[in-house]
Amino acid sequence: MSDARSLTPRLPEAKLLIDGESVAPLDGGTVPVTNPATGETFFHAPSAGPADVDRAVQAARRAFESWSRMNPSARAKLLRKLADALWERREEFALVASLENGKTFKEAIRGDVAPGSATLAYASEWPNKLTGEVVPVDGSFHTYVLREPIGVVAAIVPWNYATCLACWKLGPALATGCTVILKPSELTPLTGMKLGELAREVGFPPGVLNVLPGYGAPTGEALARHPGVDKIAFTGSVRTARRLLHASADTNLKKLTLELGGKSPQIVFADADMGKAVEACFWGVFGNKGEVCNAGSRVLVDGTAHDAFVEKLVKRAGEMVVGDPLDERTEMGAQVSQHQLETILKYVDSGKSEGATLATGGERDREGLKAKGNFLKPTVFTDVQPHMRIAQEEIFGPVLSVLRFDDEGEALRLANGTSYGLAASIWTRDVARAHALARKVEAGVVWINCFNEFDDAAPFGGYKESGWGRDLSAHALENYTQLKTVWTQLPEV
Ligand code: NAD
Repeated sequence: MSDARSLTPRLPEAKLLIDGESVAPLDGGTVPVTNPATGETFFHAPSAGPADVDRAVQAARRAFESWSRMNPSARAKLLRKLADALWERREEFALVASLENGKTFKEAIRGDVAPGSATLAYASEWPNKLTGEVVPVDGSFHTYVLREPIGVVAAIVPWNYATCLACWKLGPALATGCTVILKPSELTPLTGMKLGELAREVGFPPGVLNVLPGYGAPTGEALARHPGVDKIAFTGSVRTARRLLHASADTNLKKLTLELGGKSPQIVFADADMGKAVEACFWGVFGNKGEVCNAGSRVLVDGTAHDAFVEKLVKRAGEMVVGDPLDERTEMGAQVSQHQLETILKYVDSGKSEGATLATGGERDREGLKAKGNFLKPTVFTDVQPHMRIAQEEIFGPVLSVLRFDDEGEALRLANGTSYGLAASIWTRDVARAHALARKVEAGVVWINCFNEFDDAAPFGGYKESGWGRDLSAHALENYTQLKTVWTQLPEV
């Protein structure tokens, strides 16, 4: 890995990508992009308005005709080229990701750009394996089911893993023959814009991937309400998901997949490997500054192990190296925006006023140059009660709530006691107990004696208000296809 401080960022052209062309917005404005670590605005991205959305939708519809019929092996080749190009240029993308998001350069490579490339590579294996089926119906018929691409997909993604989450949508959408309009977050548009440029560079036909940076409104809203968009692949907040559902209901009933937030519990029993559990709970909430949908933001600890566990965790949090995201020694960078920082601090206030004990952190880190950026001290609350806001709501920052339980039943009630159900982990040496509990935990992913493990072959997504549908794996492809049943009357022979 290079020393990021010695690299020169390669920023994208400040244009929309529509129909293979870099174009200025017709009716949009600009979006300032600010480095969260320095407070400096270093780029003005274009912001697409409704007329730009319309142009992009028309282009994507035209491109769909040929892209969906292109030889699957040709689609596969292009996806593989994109995956390889992203991998080769991972440092270039990671530097820009770090500058726009505040995450550490090493996290940007390891957790954002490299997995994005891997997802595209995985998707490139699929185009010629999307088979239909022949159905053994009653009567004299030849009846088969075709799996066909849905059409034009709007991929609306957030800022916390801008490259990776875009690829989670692009991979299966493009593999199945859909065309895409990518709308990156207004806070982190640069990596999405660079992805569009890369796709054009490796030879994707015009209109297959269009990139429209812009705000939720009007850009995202215009996509959500456009009758030419067949599907929205969304990752973001529950609040926005509700708006998308309304927009779909009010217009063409476009299909939706929703990857939303979480309040994921890590359940630690007294017989767990405490060293490993402490480390996993630490990274589970402080990795990527806590701006992680499946962050293990609630740790539920067996009462008999509680005090020793908390002591180790708080010590580790106090030692965390917070600072320049480009410095290799840094463990935690800057929160994505001033607004996000203030939201997190409000949650800290609510934790204190509702009676939880602030064990460490809970304030801005203003040491030296950090005073200019959105830096926070890693924060741990103990004596958290299940009704408190810090135990119920997604904070999306480096704030951990520790709750105590006395028996397995109470651990399960606490684990399932929020509106979310994205992920959970169970720490115990009792394998039977772990598997029994895994069945009862309401979450789309359960990790046993590990946390935050991902693989392109394994589905990821939520129960309850954490969303609908799954990203990654063969199941993700189902989100981008629809079934067509064809009946043929056969003559009696
Ligand atoms: P957000 O919902 O505010 O924004 C997400 C995207 O939606 C952005 O591109 C935004 O511009 C767009 N948007 C906002 N309003 C819109 C509207 N009215 N119509 C159409 N588009 C609109 O979320 P965020 O703050 O960017 O991201 C944080 C959230 O994302 C958290 O809740 C987090 O848990 C969730 N998330 C989930 C996953 C997952 O895989 N489950 C992964 C990462 C983040």
